[in-house]
Parts: sequence; structure tokens; C-alpha cells
Amino acid sequence: MKGKVKMRMFIAFGLVFSVTIGLFMSLVIISMCDIKNKKKKRIAIIVLAFVIGFLIGGTFCLQTQMDNKNWNNGFCLKCGGQYELTEVTHIKNSGNLYYYTCKDCGYTIKLETLKNN
Ligand SMILES: [Zn+2]
Repeated sequence: MKGKVKMRMFIAFGLVFSVTIGLFMSLVIISMCDIKNKKKKRIAIIVLAFVIGFLIGGTFCLQTQMDNKNWNNGFCLKCGGQYELTEVTHIKNSGNLYYYTCKDCGYTIKLETLKNN
């Protein structure tokens, strides 16, 4: 239950974050275009904000899905063995990368989210 709430917060935060970046980017883009009509300009900013927001959000979701696919519930994709967290690298302004290595065959996956097994 607690995990579900956490996940929802995470998604909500991701969405707000994406649209905020989208809004900022669309403001920059629209200000470069010469749109005289104020109403048209406002609509263009909002539409663009959502388009960019969803693009970012989509990439974000895709990454999570990719992570889940690679993670495969903690079983190695090559041999079905168990993954073990072997390394964590911090990427500046981006977050952490988690390396999991299979105990049996040494197959290593790289995830952007931390999994516990
Ligand atoms: Zn393996």
C-alpha cells in the first residue's frame, strides 16, 4: 500500500516536472517566433508545453519500462539467476545508475531505478 502511494506521488511529480520544463521550453520557442496575436500566442504556448511535457514524460515512462524489462523481477535475462547490486554511479544533475550483476553468469544490467531483492 505504502509503495503504491509512493509510486503515484512519483508519477505525479514526474508529470508536473515534465510540463514545467515543457512550459519553459515553449516560452523560449514561442518568444523566438513572431506571433502578434496575443490569444494565438497563449494557445501556442500551452499546446507546445503539453507536447513537450508529454514527450519528456513519455521518455521517462519508457525508461522505467525498459528498467522493468531488464530487471525481469530480479531474474537474469540470460540464465534466470539472481541479480546482485554491484555498483552505483552518480551522474551529475541526473541521478544514479545502478549496476546489477547476475550471481551465476555475470551478466550485468544498468538501471536508473533502485530495485530491492
Ligand atoms: Zn545469469
